[in-house]
Amino acid sequence: MDFGILSGDHLKASSDLGIPLVAVGLLYKNGYFTQRINAFGHQESEYQNIDLYNLPINPVKDDLGEDLVISIPMLGNDLYLKVWEIKVGRVNLYLMDSDIEKNIEEYKNITLRLYGGDKEMRIRQEIVLGMAGVKLLKVLGYNPTVYHMNEGHSSFLTLQLIKDVMDEKQVSFNIAKEIVTSKTIFTTHTPVPAGNDIFDLSLMDKYFNGIWDEYGITREEFLKLGMRETENLESGFNMGILALRISGKKNGVSKLHGAVSRELFADVWPEIAPNESPITYVTNGIHTCSWLAPNIKELYNEYLVPYWQENIHDNNTWKKISSIPDERLWAEHLKRKERLMTVIKENITERFRKSGYGYEQIADFTSKLNPNALTIGFARRFATYKRATLIFKDIERLTQILNDKDRPVQLVFAGKAHPADIEGQDLIKQIHDIAMMPQFKEKIFILENYNMNIARYLISGVDVWLNNPRRPMEASGTSGEKASVNGVVNFSVLDGWWAEGYNGTNGWAIGTNANYESYDIQDTADSNSIYNTLENKIIPAYYNKPEGGISKEWLKYMKNSIISTGGNYSTSRMLVEYTENLYLPLCDQYNQNFTDLEKVMDFYKWKKAAKERWNEIEITQNDNIDNVKLNAGDVITVSCFVKLPNFDPNNVSVQVYYGQILENGTVNNISVTEMKKADKSSENSDVIKYETSIKLTTGGNFGYTFRVMPKHDMLIDSANMNLIKWMVK
Ligand SMILES: *Cc1c(COP(=O)(O)O)cnc(C)c1O
Repeated sequence: MDFGILSGDHLKASSDLGIPLVAVGLLYKNGYFTQRINAFGHQESEYQNIDLYNLPINPVKDDLGEDLVISIPMLGNDLYLKVWEIKVGRVNLYLMDSDIEKNIEEYKNITLRLYGGDKEMRIRQEIVLGMAGVKLLKVLGYNPTVYHMNEGHSSFLTLQLIKDVMDEKQVSFNIAKEIVTSKTIFTTHTPVPAGNDIFDLSLMDKYFNGIWDEYGITREEFLKLGMRETENLESGFNMGILALRISGKKNGVSKLHGAVSRELFADVWPEIAPNESPITYVTNGIHTCSWLAPNIKELYNEYLVPYWQENIHDNNTWKKISSIPDERLWAEHLKRKERLMTVIKENITERFRKSGYGYEQIADFTSKLNPNALTIGFARRFATYKRATLIFKDIERLTQILNDKDRPVQLVFAGKAHPADIEGQDLIKQIHDIAMMPQFKEKIFILENYNMNIARYLISGVDVWLNNPRRPMEASGTSGEKASVNGVVNFSVLDGWWAEGYNGTNGWAIGTNANYESYDIQDTADSNSIYNTLENKIIPAYYNKPEGGISKEWLKYMKNSIISTGGNYSTSRMLVEYTENLYLPLCDQYNQNFTDLEKVMDFYKWKKAAKERWNEIEITQNDNIDNVKLNAGDVITVSCFVKLPNFDPNNVSVQVYYGQILENGTVNNISVTEMKKADKSSENSDVIKYETSIKLTTGGNFGYTFRVMPKHDMLIDSANMNLIKWMVK
């Protein structure tokens, strides 16, 4: 994930919307590498120090006008961190830098590079980000109501917050933990288990030795915070699990990724069915105005309502796109294509010159670049799951497709592989080698040093944006969102954002939602889908035009792309969702309930008692109309009896869980409805009758059952408690 870009867009949108947000990170002074692709197609990477004096970044000063330096203890030494500030509009971003004289030598490079070192370096970085980060905000005078952890790398912040609350309020670990839960949100950004750091117990012991004594808990209780219940201590301390266990709210970054995350982390809540575990989703977006090409933005200024830039997330804003004359939109798009052709030519020329090619040889590769040819772009990190070489699976067929005289097609690639990722680098070499094959010489291009600058030209200058990750491993993806608001049409696997963004008229889908027996079968199916769709749909649509004219059919795709994604996949929409569904509900919870220690203690006592007595709850039923044939539209009343020994009925939610029973015994179209106490419920017994009426949306064999879940005003998500009682038949 390119957190840098995504978080940058997150901050810009917060600034636009006036959301009071402050951000903390590490200053990776040596964080970005320049990529070269040599004559053999090998990636060469060169790390360079960023030039701090040429960036809008400044050291924060303390009261005496000196550079602000904070410190945390680490292994018997103090670790000092210089603080830098970047203003992103109205939002402040603070970056911590360990590369200062005051530090012992081995601490100086902690913040040098992202993913630079071994596990020990990683735990140090994460202690800085999480624990020093909390301290930094305090020193700067911030007192955030809600902390948002993006990915598990920052989840040690929960440990620091718990400590601070214990000290400030003189409360126990458990009470402090409840308070911290009401202040924390965790967003998981990856669908693969390896995306979360797991630290060996030796490292945890080394860096956190004794913290459990300060907390008043045992070492084992402490370590279990980063583990699933079923795991033994040896499995290591998982940063993602820590964040999931403590945070009040949790989310994935697209609808599909939410579902995948619920499965992936199902055993954090073993009692709750995976599809109901408490992880929601907020789909990633892009800071639209930052990613629109200047001439495209000007065109929108002309045709969209005034102040459209302030109403990015309003879908009505984008409907006006249809009023742009096709010829205008195409003319502006062509300008972007021509600009991209120049960028490709320069990039390739530079690369080939360094590899010792003469000008004539180079011209051989670039002179036939054609802005009128259908141009397909693929640019992203060369991680293997993105399958950059999938389109080459059948070279013969691709040769036919690219070399059609009347309907030529060009392919342009760009991307970096992590310097330690040998397989990723091999993908670059494969594409390089294929691009050198005689039949592809002026058809396939691979650009050096993919970065935001090159991304800008690509996402606005090609016609089709290709994305073929191995479903469902793309959590969201954002480059396709950047492309589509510029009128570049997506052609993508139904994964990440496109699984919800594709509507049948705004681009094309690769493959299906099927699960495959093997990677090989999946690759074959998906590559065939690519060729078929190119041959039968994309190429005909692009070239469906009169001599010298434009393709109305294509313009329709372009406009549908812009209209359907401009608002929905903006960081404005994303921030509004974070604010309405996550930030504000937590702020309200904290302010209304968690600042009052007595309330928190009562709540904790209630939780404890509920857990202890949960098994005494019994659900029974007197009538039985289960698995009967009913018609759609029928309204039926269902009831059950719930025995609640020593339970306040206000603290449970009794629910009917129902759906259509299919022939194979599974239940379809599941709904859940909360039931009410029946009027004539027996007064002084601990058995209470609950009932509700439900309207059936589908006919057929209908089945239902009852269940009880905990309910409390201070319970942020009822599934968080991992308690559920089903009726036993
Ligand atoms: C937007 C962007 C990305 C992210 O693209 P994905 O589709 O999520 O892989 C990566 N790198 C750069 C330079 C970008 O601009």
